[in-house]
Amino acid sequence: MGTFKAWIVDKAEGGQSLRFGDFDEADLMDGDVTVRVTHSTLNYKDGLAMTGKSPVVRRFPMIPGIDFAGIVETSDHPEYKAGDAVVLTGWGVGENHLGAYAEKARVKGEWLVPLPAGLSQAQAMAVGTAGYTAMLCLMALERHGLTPSDGPALVTGASGGVGSVAVALLARAGWHVVASTGRAEEEADYLRGLGAAEVMDRAELGKPGKPLAKERWAAAIDAVGSTTLANVLAATKADGAVAACGLAQGMDLPTSVAPFILRGVSLLGINSVTTPQPKRREAWARIARDLDLGTLASMTREVPLAEVGRLAEEILAGRTRGRTVVTVG
Ligand code: NDP
Repeated sequence: MGTFKAWIVDKAEGGQSLRFGDFDEADLMDGDVTVRVTHSTLNYKDGLAMTGKSPVVRRFPMIPGIDFAGIVETSDHPEYKAGDAVVLTGWGVGENHLGAYAEKARVKGEWLVPLPAGLSQAQAMAVGTAGYTAMLCLMALERHGLTPSDGPALVTGASGGVGSVAVALLARAGWHVVASTGRAEEEADYLRGLGAAEVMDRAELGKPGKPLAKERWAAAIDAVGSTTLANVLAATKADGAVAACGLAQGMDLPTSVAPFILRGVSLLGINSVTTPQPKRREAWARIARDLDLGTLASMTREVPLAEVGRLAEEILAGRTRGRTVVTVG
């Protein structure tokens, strides 16, 4: 066993430190599948893990990186053999299990999904946790019975990773998409290119508002939380629903029961980390079928593994756009 390159988070006085260096393969954690990582991505949670701004890392040393695509090197799991292309998102990888910003990962086979047919490893990671979460949100809205004929769909944090994929998926599914962004001037063309029909300034939703407002959208995918989510709920049409997955503005939710009891609005919680396998595979199959790969490419840039560390602060500050694929090896 040798060493491989990895980003490593160590415990340091008063917090944690981050470095790029060599990691001993013998120190990989238990798992029945060892994967040569070819691609990872940058997600908001990776920014939190690398900077320590929230206590995402639960074990030290930690290799951050919550998702990867790669090729199986060795496997004791019945479903996987050497040479198989696989994808992993969630399950605490990069939080309490050594993660994806590395040339190698050892994980439980039950956490993996086979690389979806029709996607390359790079494309699967252009989708990544953010895009797969956007699909879980769309599936939740559909399960609620909502269709494009019910009215517009709002996406908050629209220029970010979840937001960009959500705009593309909703537009492709026929929705009239309203994209809410703090970067309306710079990113309006980008968002229209993804399929947004309208672009709104997120300032409209960012400050405390009334418990009920004029009904504006039948559905929403919210990556922002806090006051924004409260205002999104307040302006959701009767019997509409909001799929909530994020906290870019904050963890709090300063709302009232009014949208729920006076308009029958539903708040649908989305947790991508421990999604059971059947729903996970359904989401990936839908992504491979429904997401336009040209649109995906237009929201994606690549950085080499050695450079992802410097983007940690960027994503937390809301300065990254769309999706960032991390190329490994
Ligand atoms: P990004 O940073 O790529 O996107 C977040 C976007 O939110 C930003 O691009 C920005 O968009 C907007 N934003 C940032 N800061 C603020 C703020 N203070 N107030 C209002 N809007 C803000 O992150 P991701 O897309 O990777 O993740 C989005 C959220 O979803 C995160 O909170 C993440 O933790 C969560 N998430 C949750 C998952 C789950 O399983 N529940 C899975 C994946 C992500 P703009 O400039 O367009 O306004």
